[in-house]
Amino acid sequence: MALQLQRGARRLLLHIGGSARAFSGNPRLRVLLDMDGVIADFEGGFLKKYRQKFPNEPFISLEDRRGFWVSTQYGELRGDLCDKAISIWESKNFFLELEPLPGSVEAVKAMATMENTDVFICTSPIKHYAHCPYEKYAWVEKHLGPDFLEKVILTRDKTVVSGDILIDDKPDILGVEPNPSWEHVLFTACHNKHLRASSTQRRLLSWADDWRGVLESKR
Ligand SMILES: [Mg+2]
Repeated sequence: MALQLQRGARRLLLHIGGSARAFSGNPRLRVLLDMDGVIADFEGGFLKKYRQKFPNEPFISLEDRRGFWVSTQYGELRGDLCDKAISIWESKNFFLELEPLPGSVEAVKAMATMENTDVFICTSPIKHYAHCPYEKYAWVEKHLGPDFLEKVILTRDKTVVSGDILIDDKPDILGVEPNPSWEHVLFTACHNKHLRASSTQRRLLSWADDWRGVLESKR
C-alpha cells in the first residue's frame, strides 16, 4: 500500500513537471545520455561507409531519412539493401570510427563537471556483438577520456535503468518497466525531425540547444 502511494505520488510529480528526485530528497541529478545519434554520429558514419562499400547501389540521403531503423528504410527502397545496410554496422571499426556529433564531447565533459550531477552513457549494443561493445568503450575512452569508462551502461533495455533524464534520439523507448524513472527528452536527428511534436515529450534540438536549461528544469 505504502509503495503504491509512493509510486502514485512520484507519477503525479512527474506529470505536473516536478521531480521524483527532489521529492526523495536526493540532491544529485542523474543524467543518462544515449550514444548513437546523440553523442556519436551514427547516421553520418553509416551513410559514408555504405556509399564507400556499395558505390553503385541507391542510397538514402540524411535529408530523406525517415523512421528510426536505417535497415527498414533501406529494405523498403529495395529488399536486398536491408542486409547490405546491416553489414555496415556489423563491420569492424564501424562504431569506433564514428565522429562525435557537433558540440557533443564539449557538452558531455561540461555536464560531468557540474555540481550535483552524475552523467552516464546509456547505450544499446547491437546483437552482433563481435565488435560493437568493445568499440563503444574504446570510443568513450578516445573522446571522453578513461575516467568516463566508469560511466558506461550497456543495456538493451533502458527502462530498467534509473535516472532523472534520458536524452535519446529514439522516439519510443520501451522495455519491461512500464514507468521508467527518467523523463525521455528526444534528441533531434535526421530520422525523427519530421515527427509531430508530442505535447508530453520535450526535445533537445542539438548540442547548441539549451541543454543546461533542460537539466536545470529537473532539479
Ligand atoms: Mg540513439
